[in-house]
Amino acid sequence: MQNRLNRRGFLSATAAASLATLAVGAAPPRPLGARRPLVVSSNPNALEKTMELIKQGLDPLDAAIAGVAIIEADPNDHSVGYGGLPNEDGVVELDAAVMHGPTHGGGAVASIRNILHPAAVARLVMKRSKHCLITAEGALRFAKAHGFPEMDLMTEESRKIWLRWKEKHSEDWLSQPDGQVDPKVLETLKTRIHGTVHVSAMDTHGDLGCVTSTSGLAFKIPGRIGDSPILGAGLYLDNTVGSCGSTGLGEVNLLNCSSYLIIEGIRRGEHIKDAMVNACKRIIETTTRDPRFRNAEGKPAFGVNFYGMTKEGEVAGACIGGGGTFSIHDGDGIKQVDFAAVRA
Ligand code: ASP
Repeated sequence: MQNRLNRRGFLSATAAASLATLAVGAAPPRPLGARRPLVVSSNPNALEKTMELIKQGLDPLDAAIAGVAIIEADPNDHSVGYGGLPNEDGVVELDAAVMHGPTHGGGAVASIRNILHPAAVARLVMKRSKHCLITAEGALRFAKAHGFPEMDLMTEESRKIWLRWKEKHSEDWLSQPDGQVDPKVLETLKTRIHGTVHVSAMDTHGDLGCVTSTSGLAFKIPGRIGDSPILGAGLYLDNTVGSCGSTGLGEVNLLNCSSYLIIEGIRRGEHIKDAMVNACKRIIETTTRDPRFRNAEGKPAFGVNFYGMTKEGEVAGACIGGGGTFSIHDGDGIKQVDFAAVRA
């Protein structure tokens, strides 16, 4: 009991210290402008907070980082931050990147361990170093230098999911019969688990900010880095054009610089939805040449989604291997937007 209390006390102290780091590097609020604010996200739970802070005059990137922090701290989201599924060795490695419209600044961390809010560290890479990307041990030391506390990012549930996966993929570890395993663990392992949170935000001055944060592919090879921390792949913006980001198999975005492709398409005059559909078609076309990413029928064996907005306030999403809707906040409330589903 004593130990449990101590552990709980430690966790809440760490959570409080982590929360405090969200203010490190954030800009002071400024008076509101006349433009209608807008937030687009792959995860609806990030929308309200981001919009609330934009309406208080916060920089759009700082607001988006605070919205993403809710997902990073959510133990039930197995694709981001705390509770994110680990690599094949049982170690959680996070990737995150940010871009800031007014300065065209960008920062990222990749394969960072033991840090709850990697997107806030990415902002510090942008604001407190002359670099755009810091990885692994160097990223952890950089975060600690700025006061970010270390914590174990595995939850009891993510440990059980990883352990079951490990036992099923080893000749030496022995797994329990299905009947003795938590049904939630079995359910989670039915499909390959991955996911990410992306937020693109526009403030009342029409300025843009965007963030992508993830634990990447579950059970990945240690050190594998996806698209999320790569500017131009997992996110991109230009303050005069628009902002976008992606979730899904990162390798296909790395191979096609997809987020950059979309923003450049809009810059050349394409409608945002067409720019996204064209990026999906490019991915489909290029992956027909790479057998690693196609199935027996020669079709894409992966899913990928894009979310974004233009400077004029148009929003769109497009995807390969999926469909349905995603959520935006237009200042009045949360609305659903249909994905343009692109089939091979
Ligand atoms: N894009 C992420 C990655 O490849 C994963 C995901 O969004 O599902 O790391």
